[in-house]
Amino acid sequence: VSEHRRVVVVGIPGVGKSTVVERIIALRLQKGRQTIVANYGSVMMEEASKNFNVKSRDEMRKLPIESQKKLQLGAAAKIKSLPDEFVIVDTHLFISTKEGYWPGMPLEVLEELKPTNLVLVMTDAETILSRRTKDSSRSRDPSTIESVERELQAAVSLLFASSLFSGCPALMITNETGRADEAALRIISAIESS
Ligand code: AMP
Ligand code: MG
Repeated sequence: VSEHRRVVVVGIPGVGKSTVVERIIALRLQKGRQTIVANYGSVMMEEASKNFNVKSRDEMRKLPIESQKKLQLGAAAKIKSLPDEFVIVDTHLFISTKEGYWPGMPLEVLEELKPTNLVLVMTDAETILSRRTKDSSRSRDPSTIESVERELQAAVSLLFASSLFSGCPALMITNETGRADEAALRIISAIESS
């Protein structure tokens, strides 16, 4: 039985996904376990900056969809080729593009990536909205409580769609403010093989 884990961690912007992922790395390290994180956007950016002359992630998602699709599939192949035992794929179920919401894991990406687990990090819309408002490092699209609620609903639908297509279990975890460790521990204990 293969012990390899390719854990796709998703969550809408502002949910605290990166923080939870950092805590997973730290908590596993305390037990001498290594975790590799593949940030999907960063893997795509490497190619995007070479071939499409984009300077930021927020510029990348404004590229024509055909260009983003090439980058997206290339990134899946790159991540799949990582030999490590425990790989976390930090990505998105959908990306807000010029043409509308676009799936981060269409069928061909799921087939290429072959995840073993799907994790959706969630929290309430009010918290997400206030985190987005505070994060001035990004050029996010403007949001409201209503738009965040809709994104959360879309995320849950797409999580189950991805689960259905890949046959992977889908885990939903709440990341409450100041409790990222708790969220990380719940993910670890659900996924680690004993
Ligand atoms: P971040 O907010 O740091 O996670 O960066 C996310 C950015 O990377 C998104 O805005 C997208 O442009 C890109 N990205 C991440 N995952 C995917 C994916 N699966 N498919 C397409 N683009 C992605
Ligand atoms: Mg992030």
